[in-house]
Amino acid sequence: MNQPNDDTQVLGACPHDCPDTCSLLTTVKDGVATRVQGNPAHPLTGGVLCAKVSKYPERTYHPDRLLHPMKRVGPKGSGQFVRVGWDEALNDIAQRLSAIAARNPEAVLPYSYAGTMGLVQGDGMAARFFHRLGASRLDQTICSSAGTAGLVHTLGGKVGMKVQFFAEARLIVIWGSNSIGSNLHFWRIAQEAKRQGARLVCIDPRRSETAEKCHEHIALRPGTDAALALALMQQLIVHDWLDHDYIEHHTLGWAELRERALQWPPERAAEVCGVPVEQITRLAHDYAHSRPAAIRLNYGVQRVRGGANAVRAIACLPALTGAWRQRGGGILLSSSGQFPVQRQTLQRPDLLGERRPRLINMSTIGDALNQPASAAFGPALEAVVVYNSNPVAVAPDSARVAAGFAREDLFTVVLEHFQTDTADYADYLLPATTQLEHWDIHLAYGHTDVLLNRPAIAPLGEALPNSEIFRRLAQRMGYSDPCFAEEDETLCRQAFGDRIDYDQLLSQGFASLPLADAPFAEGGFPTPSGRCEFLSPALVAQGLDGLPDHLPNHELPDPAGPWPLAMISPPARNFLNSTFVNVTSLRNIETEPVLEIHPDDAGPRQIHSGDVVRVFNARGNYHCKAEVSERARPGVVNGLGIWWRKFGLNGTNVNELTSQALTDLGRGPTFYDCAVQVSRLG
Ligand code: SF4
Repeated sequence: MNQPNDDTQVLGACPHDCPDTCSLLTTVKDGVATRVQGNPAHPLTGGVLCAKVSKYPERTYHPDRLLHPMKRVGPKGSGQFVRVGWDEALNDIAQRLSAIAARNPEAVLPYSYAGTMGLVQGDGMAARFFHRLGASRLDQTICSSAGTAGLVHTLGGKVGMKVQFFAEARLIVIWGSNSIGSNLHFWRIAQEAKRQGARLVCIDPRRSETAEKCHEHIALRPGTDAALALALMQQLIVHDWLDHDYIEHHTLGWAELRERALQWPPERAAEVCGVPVEQITRLAHDYAHSRPAAIRLNYGVQRVRGGANAVRAIACLPALTGAWRQRGGGILLSSSGQFPVQRQTLQRPDLLGERRPRLINMSTIGDALNQPASAAFGPALEAVVVYNSNPVAVAPDSARVAAGFAREDLFTVVLEHFQTDTADYADYLLPATTQLEHWDIHLAYGHTDVLLNRPAIAPLGEALPNSEIFRRLAQRMGYSDPCFAEEDETLCRQAFGDRIDYDQLLSQGFASLPLADAPFAEGGFPTPSGRCEFLSPALVAQGLDGLPDHLPNHELPDPAGPWPLAMISPPARNFLNSTFVNVTSLRNIETEPVLEIHPDDAGPRQIHSGDVVRVFNARGNYHCKAEVSERARPGVVNGLGIWWRKFGLNGTNVNELTSQALTDLGRGPTFYDCAVQVSRLG
C-alpha cells in the first residue's frame, strides 16, 4: 500500500452516509494523521467539515480500535473473543463458508450498507466474492428505497437540481430534513439564498435546529406529507397558479392528477396533517409566486407506510408551476442516479453465471434470521457476513434481530473498526481499515462531483481494507478468476472508466460531472415517456394506483388506546446512524439516550426533563432520559438515534420499538411509523 511522505496533506473523501460527500484534507506528520479538515479547493466542501468528521483522528486512533482478528470464545452475544492470526481466521472462515456453499450457497448472506459509501470498500471486491459464491443477494433497502421508487416513478431516477443553484432560489422548502445536522453544506447554500432575500420553510414533525432557523416551520404529523403536497396542488389548481405550457409539453397524467388533487382542499389536509389551514394556503401562494422555488427533500418523509407516495406527490410540484425552467428551481432528493458508475465491471454479476440467488430484504433481517427452511423462503440462513453495517443496532425490531444473531448455529463474520452491538455476536471479528488507511472512490447523493480517497496513513495494527479481506478469502476458497487479483487502485479506475478524468481526481481529489445547469428546463425526464409522470404507467401495469396519494401510517396513535403517541427517531446531531456513538468527545455532547416529549404530553404523565422514562409498545421497552421540549410536537415523541444498545440504559435502543412493516413501494423500512406509550420510571 502506498505510504505518503510525512508532513504532507493527503486528499480524501468523507465515506459516511451523508449527502455532502466532503473532500478531505488529512495532515500527516511522522506517519500519524494529526488533523482532518475540509478541502478549501472543493467548492461544495468549502474547507468546512461537520463536527463528527472533524474528530476523525480521534476515531481512527481510538483505544478501542480493532487491530487484530478475533475469534469468539464465550457464548453468542457475550462479546468475548481471543486474538488469532489472519491465516487461522481466514482459513477457518473459508472452510466454513465452503462447507455451507457445498450444500446450498444461498444459506450464506452478505449484510452491508453505507458504513462506507465508497465504491471499492463498499460493494466492490465484496460483491465479486459473493457473486462467485452464489450467496443470497441482499435487498439494500434500509435507508432510501421507498424514496428511490417514488423518484423513479415520477422523475425517472435519482435526479434533480444541482445543489449549488439553491443559492439562487427565492423560496426554499426544506422538507423532511434537519439540514444543519445531516446536510450541513446544503444549509450553507440555503443561508446564502437567505442573505439574498430567499424565504426558508421547513416541513418536519420535529422542531429541529434547522426548523427553528427557518422563517417558518410546518410541524405536520409523521406520515402526512403526501396529504400536504396534494393540498398544495389543489391550491395551485383552484387559483390557476399553474404553468400550463410546461404541464402540456412535459408531463403525463395531468387530467388524472388534477382530479385527485381537487379532493384535497386545505381544510382536509389540515385535519390530517395537524397544521393550520393558513400554513397550507400561505405555502401554496409562496410556492407559486416565488421564482425560482426549490424543494430540498430528504429521506425522513419516506420512512413511513406511504413513503414512496409522499415522494411522488412532492416531486410532482415543480412540474405544475414550471419551477424546473430555472436552474434555481425544482427539487433535489438524491443526485446519485446521475453518476455513470460502471457497476458491472466493479461488481461482476456475471460471476453468478446462470444462478439467480434469492433476494433477502435487509429491513426484515430480524424475520429472515429466524426463518426456518421452506419452499417459499429457501434454505435457512446458516452464515452471515456483515461489513459496513451494524444491524443489531440499526435494523428495525431489534430484539428480533438480536435473537436471530444469537442463534448458536449461525456462523457470523463481522468486518469492523470497533466492537459494535453486532460485533458482539460474531464468530470471527475482523479488523477493517478506516478511510484514512485505504483507497476508495465516491459518488455523492447531495451533489454531482466524484471524489477520490487516497490512503493517508498505513493501516493500524493488522487492519486490512475490506477489499483485501475478500481478496484473501477468495484465494482460500479457490477462486482463481483474475478479477480477484486486481488492486484497489485498479478498482478506483474501473468505477467510472473513461466517464471521468481520473488524472484530475489524482491531482485535485474531485471531478465534476458534465451536467446541464437546469436539467429539465425543456422536459427530457429519464422516465419511459420522457415526461414527469404524474400518472405512472409502470405502476398501473403492476395493478397499482398510478397517481400519488396519501396512505395513512401502519401505526396510527390512538389517544384512547394503548399506544397514544407517534414516535419518530431522527439522528442525534453528533452521530451518523450508529457511527461515532463510541467517540467519547461526541458522546459527551449527546450525554445519554434522549426522548423529546412535548409539555402537553409530559404533564399528564408527570414527566420532567431528566426523568428516566420507559418508552414501550408490543415489541419492547426502551429506557432513556426525557427532555420536555417543544422540539416535539404534541402527540409525537422524538427518540434520537441511533445509540448502540450496549450504551442504552436498559441495553436497548430506539429500534427495540420500530417494526418490520414495509413501505408502499421499494420494500423499505418504516422507522417513523411507530406508535408507543411513555411512562415515568424515576
Ligand atoms: S458526514 Fe457529511 S458533512 Fe460531515 S464530513 Fe462527511 S460528508 Fe461532510
